[in-house]
Parts: sequence; structure tokens; C-alpha cells
Amino acid sequence: MRGLGPSFFALQPAQALPEPTWVAVNDALAAAMGWAGWMTGSEALALLAGNAQPPGGTFATVYSGHQFGSWAGQLGDGRALLLGEADTPMGALEIQLKGSGKTPFSRMGDGRAVLRSSIREYLCSEAMHGLGIPTTRALAVVGSPLPVRRETVETAAVVTRVAPSFLRFGHFEHFAHTAQDIAALRRLADTTVLRYYPELVGSAQPYAALLEAVTRRTAALMAQWQAVGFCHGVMNTDNMSMLGLTIDYGPFGFLDAFDPAHICNHSDDAGRYAWARQPGVALWNLHALAQALMPLIEDTDTALAALEPYKTAYPQAMLAAWRAKLGLRAERDEDGDLIDELLRLMAQDRADFSITWRRLAGFCSAPGAAQAADRAALRDLFLDREAFDAWALHYAERLRAEASVDIERARRMNRVNPKFVLRNHLAETAIQRAREGDFSEVQRLLKVLQHPYDEQPENEADAGFAPDWAAQLEVSCSS
Ligand code: AMP
Ligand code: MG
Repeated sequence: MRGLGPSFFALQPAQALPEPTWVAVNDALAAAMGWAGWMTGSEALALLAGNAQPPGGTFATVYSGHQFGSWAGQLGDGRALLLGEADTPMGALEIQLKGSGKTPFSRMGDGRAVLRSSIREYLCSEAMHGLGIPTTRALAVVGSPLPVRRETVETAAVVTRVAPSFLRFGHFEHFAHTAQDIAALRRLADTTVLRYYPELVGSAQPYAALLEAVTRRTAALMAQWQAVGFCHGVMNTDNMSMLGLTIDYGPFGFLDAFDPAHICNHSDDAGRYAWARQPGVALWNLHALAQALMPLIEDTDTALAALEPYKTAYPQAMLAAWRAKLGLRAERDEDGDLIDELLRLMAQDRADFSITWRRLAGFCSAPGAAQAADRAALRDLFLDREAFDAWALHYAERLRAEASVDIERARRMNRVNPKFVLRNHLAETAIQRAREGDFSEVQRLLKVLQHPYDEQPENEADAGFAPDWAAQLEVSCSS
């Protein structure tokens, strides 16, 4: 980022964070980065609290973007600062503080993040990584008694995030539309290709190739989100990664009772970012990226052609994901109907998304197994038992037709249908304890979520239905 020149960022020291303490340290990530020893020292706490400066200083990048479908103009890292890039065994990683104080891009914001949202980001980044979904990572959370005003007065925290790059669609939109600096836009695109898409260097139309590569990664990411019932909540173009990573965890949620129209962000009145709309919104956002790249691509047809693969890549990836979740190996034309009918029943009866898929692994495909005990637990999730039985008959036939062996199929399904996802109530419990000064639940939950496909019988309670009080939890953009 720094090599791009001063029009891309502002040098900005972090604001001091009083009385910093570790809320959480991600030991597994620290070890993978080769930083485990360093993280135990006092230098790490000072640096990751924003109380010590790295030698080259810290900087905030400028971007713009579309928010809730409207052009929002200039945004930028309003509360994030890059500490720099580190060479690690995982490759080069940018290290970023979030919540480290005001920057020239803070607008009306205070530059801070609260403990609540910082714990949510920390846990969900690692939950997504555990699920095998591309994401920015979270190395640590530092807390402080510093009061921060949101709907109520909360306390401040700083999350350390790491990723190969935090480049967003919004960075490109900024230079195309706000700055209208095409030379800078070209430098940004060239650097992105060179650093993150080196396989595209030398292609006849590198900018269209970049757009297509981002399109394909985004399509794959959307299928992965949908398959685990993840709702991002704020899919604005400034929250879309140029590397196809999940980025900016705010009012996200995982589906409990299945409702395709589920809106996890309390501030999203129109449901623009409802679960079922995410793949379509991603394509809308890719069009915004295409528009930003137009000064470089020049030809509209070429840009549109680069977006075109989304229309096949996403449905193909999604169909493959549903098939895997059903434990199907062969591909048959009628699979789409089998999937649609199950989703329809789940939605109609508000069956729990994760639990339904997980219980499907135990489905007995033998003829006459309709009343078998191992099918009952699944059947119990549906109110319309007749409709479920009719679907189950088709599913059992379909499994037998590909000579599926139940035990082997269950093993495969349990590797794609997570037992543990970060439901709101789990995060909320960890947050409540942390507010009381007990951070052990954050670390315990982190360890559970790092292995979401394992049975973990000792953590059965974390795999259960959302309790009734979870329905009252309101997650908004306020963070
Ligand atoms: P978000 O919806 O969280 O992705 O944020 C949108 C924009 O607002 C980004 O440019 C953020 O950096 C900025 N922002 C969000 N919260 C704050 C805050 N408390 N202080 C300063 N800027 C913020
Ligand atoms: Mg953001």
C-alpha cells in the first residue's frame, strides 16, 4: 500500500488507549505467523493497543463506496490504521488496528470500536477461517476502560486484523469517481495485479482479467457464505474485498431458524442485505467495481464480459455446495428439485439451518427406514411431517441410486455441514462475561469455533438451538 504514494493514505498515529489489557490473543494464528513469542511481551501490547508507533508510522487509507445502493462519496479507514506489512510463514500479511482512534477519514465518527463489536469481529473472523471460508483474520483484542458512546456508554477495544491485503472495491471507486485520478487508479490496478494476481501479469487485457478474477473469487465466496447460512449484514462496496475475502464484521449473523429473507442488520429496514439477496448484491457490487475500472478497461462489452462468469460460476458453486451438504457425489438433473424442496420445507417450518443440515448426516437411506430412530431426530425439525416424509422418500431413493454407503456419506457430510457456528447468543454470552472482566469465554468459544466440523461432545451446548432470549438480540451497524 505504502509504495502507491501519498494520494492513497494519510500518515496518522494511533490515539493513546488508556490502561490496555489483553482481552484475547489468538495463539494459533500467532504461532502460524511466527509471532507466538513476541505476543507474550509488553512491546506487543503497547503496539497493538496503539500506544507505541512502529518505525515507519501508521497510516489510514482512503476509499469511497456505495452504501445501501447509493453513492456515498469518500469514506476511508475512519478507525483503522495499517501498522505495515510483515513477512510471515503464511506469506506477506498486512497488520491493521481497528478502533485505534480518529483519522482524516473519520467523518462524524470517534475512531473507536467498542468491546462488544471487537469480540464479535475477533470470533467471527476465526469462525469463518475454521469453516474454510476466505476471510481477514484476527490476531488479538486489546481492551480498555475508556468510555465510548454508542446507544449506551460502552468501553473501547482495538482488534488487530491481518490479511494479505485490505484492498476493497471502494479503493478503486475512490480514484475513479471521487479523486478522478486515472493515473492513480492505474497504479492501484497494476499493483493489485502484480502483488495479488501475478498470474494475470502479461495478459492482453490485464484490467478486465483482474475484474474477472475478482468476479470468480466473489462468486465462490458467496456460495460459501450461503452454504453455512452466513449473513454479512452490510455488503456495501467499501466492505467488498479485492481478494475475495470476508471483510468488516459488523452486524453479521448465522441463520438460526431458516428464513431466506432473514435480515441480520437491525438498521437494514428494506432488507437489501437479507440472506437470500447476498449473491445478487455481490454481483451489483461487482458492477460498481466494473464501472470504477472502466477508465482502464475502456470498452463496455469487455467489462461486461468479465462479469459474465458470475452468472454461471455462482450457481455452479452453489449447486455443488448443496450437493455436498446432501452428501451427493453424482450429479443428476433432478438434484436442483431435491435441494429446492428441502429448502422450501425448512423455510416453511422455520427449521434450524445448521442443525437440519448436521442431522441429515444421520439419515438412514435403507428402504423402509422412514420410521427409523436415526431419521426421527431430523423429522422432528419439521412441522409438516407428511411433506418431510415425501421429501425423505426421494432423498433415500436418490442416495440408493448412487449406491451411497451411509457411514461414509455421514463422514463426508460432517466435513461440510458445521456443527458449530457463531450464533448471536454465543457471542453475546462471551461479550457479557468480558464486560465483567472475565475473558475466558471468548477464548473457549474461539477454540470451539476453530474446529466447527468436529463433534466436540464436551461442547454440545454450543451446538444447540438459539434460546428464546436470542430473538430479542438486535444487532445494528453501531459498533
Ligand atoms: P462500516 O459500515 O463499519 O463498514 O463503516 C463505514 C465507514 O465508516 C468506514 O469508512 C469506517 O471506517 C467508518 N466508521 C465506522 N465507524 C466509525 C467510527 N466509530 N469512527 C470513525 N469512522 C467510522
Ligand atoms: Mg467497512
